[in-house]
Amino acid sequence: MSIETKSELILKGIAAAPGISISKAYLYKKEVESANNEKVEDVDEALENFEFAREKSKKELNKVLSLAVDKLGKKRGAIFEAQIMILDDPFLIDKIKNRISAEKINPEYIVDNEISKYQKILNDSDESYMKERSRDIEDIKYRIIRNLKKKKWKSRIDSEVVVVTESLTPADTILFSRENVSGYVTNFGGLTSHAAILARSLSIPAVLGVHDATSQIEPEDIVVIDGFHGLVYVNPTEERLEHFRERIKKLELFDKELDKLKKVKAVTKDGRRINIHGNLDLREELELMISNGAEGIGLVRTEQITEEYEEFPGEEEQLKIYNALAEKLYPKTMTIRVLDIGGDKVLPVDVKEPNPFLGWRGIRFLEDNVPLFKTQIRAILRASNHKNIRLMIPMITSMEEIINTKNLIELCKKELKKEGLQFDEDIKIGIMIEVPSAAVMAKEYASEVDFISIGTNDLIQYLLAVDRGNDIVQKLYQEFHPAVIRVLNNIINDVKIESKIDVSICGEMAADPLAVPLLVGIGLDTLSVSAAAIPQTKKIIRSLNYSEVRLLAEECLSLRTENEIKEKVKKFYNEKLIDCTVQY
Ligand code: PEP
Ligand code: MG
Repeated sequence: MSIETKSELILKGIAAAPGISISKAYLYKKEVESANNEKVEDVDEALENFEFAREKSKKELNKVLSLAVDKLGKKRGAIFEAQIMILDDPFLIDKIKNRISAEKINPEYIVDNEISKYQKILNDSDESYMKERSRDIEDIKYRIIRNLKKKKWKSRIDSEVVVVTESLTPADTILFSRENVSGYVTNFGGLTSHAAILARSLSIPAVLGVHDATSQIEPEDIVVIDGFHGLVYVNPTEERLEHFRERIKKLELFDKELDKLKKVKAVTKDGRRINIHGNLDLREELELMISNGAEGIGLVRTEQITEEYEEFPGEEEQLKIYNALAEKLYPKTMTIRVLDIGGDKVLPVDVKEPNPFLGWRGIRFLEDNVPLFKTQIRAILRASNHKNIRLMIPMITSMEEIINTKNLIELCKKELKKEGLQFDEDIKIGIMIEVPSAAVMAKEYASEVDFISIGTNDLIQYLLAVDRGNDIVQKLYQEFHPAVIRVLNNIINDVKIESKIDVSICGEMAADPLAVPLLVGIGLDTLSVSAAAIPQTKKIIRSLNYSEVRLLAEECLSLRTENEIKEKVKKFYNEKLIDCTVQY
């Protein structure tokens, strides 16, 4: 195909899965199955047809499920298990059958009507997670209708194409990956969509939420996906193609180079040792985390690793999860954060809050739900018997929350002792500093705990009053805002004057190559980053001189705008660390 005939077009979306790929576009149109409301003559035949379509849909989904389990492990398969469960939901199925019998209307119409009701409830929710689930339900609806019409399931496409589509269901994402699809571009879909999470797990570059991708990209167009920056180049110029071919080569070489750093420690050239820990969101990530050289887990997001359960798991179930992780990780330590739900993470109760991020979140929710909190504390304590577990409390805003939680932990210890159950008597308790009030009070709070971890994802949002998930104000969410840098510096100084406790950072900022020199310069001991970011973070630290980054930090602390700080760190990076990155 000739690429000179069309001019280059650059589209911007959400950088949902990193990586670069160059391929032909494949425009995938999900068939919207229409359903008419004609009367049926033979009700028995209609009911038989419905049963056939339901069984066929289940078979198809079972195929997708086993493929998903193979490729991604059991947890990810759960999405499809949930879809299969809907096909077995007696309430829904009986309702559909009863309506077919009573109304004698085409089953396609009744399926459409009934499942659309489910869909609407989810779609009307304020939670983006629920809205995403509504797309999964739509997938089931069209699947049954297609099977009622006895139409074939079309999933075969040529390999090595970039799939361009309106939106992706988890099933599409898995099936396409089987055909070695090299990237995804969608009109809709956010970072929290299962499709995005799956693309990341499958290491397939993806740019989502491009809005007009399907109207701007034509079949067979050459497309470059830059999953690092959320950019899509359609019919790129020869120079652009050459640039990205080079980038791909460099990325491959860079990855090989980083492989060598997995086992080494992160020590600056002048001898300052920084611990590199991992953030764990999925149990399956543990292997990669260990093989990439994590020296421990700095943050286990328990609300994420238990996401596959319909209800938050009970004590024994949690104990199994924590034990399995702690045993695999031993003797390295694992910091388990107690449930941080609320905000953008769905609460298990039906409440509507006008400002969820300022509402019932983290420790606030736990303090109001003591039985749930105790169940988790007991499970963590029992797993701590391996002596490699620490407990961390999220969203701390006051001293009372720390004292109350410590008292509750003591109470749980007493109960366990009475029951003859073992645990680590000296389990370390820490807090997250994510709220400005905790940053101001860091010295006092630190004197009550064994460690602190700074959660910049939230600290930045609360300090700058910028919703971390709102793309309208995304440019105001600034890691390098002088107030952010100064607050981080104050926390570290205040804590270290009073005590010798470990101060770590587990927000995404720790994995930003540009931010690492500054974070080391202001005196952080531990950086906790996602598994994939560990080798590069080590490389950066091993290329630094602590004396130089201290100076860099001092200079940045005197600057007055984000731009000035960013320029300074960029200059430093380009002069000293240019070998440490390929993504800028
Ligand atoms: C943070 O706020 O920086 C953090 C690590 O917690 P989460 O992203 O889970 O809110
Ligand atoms: Mg947080």
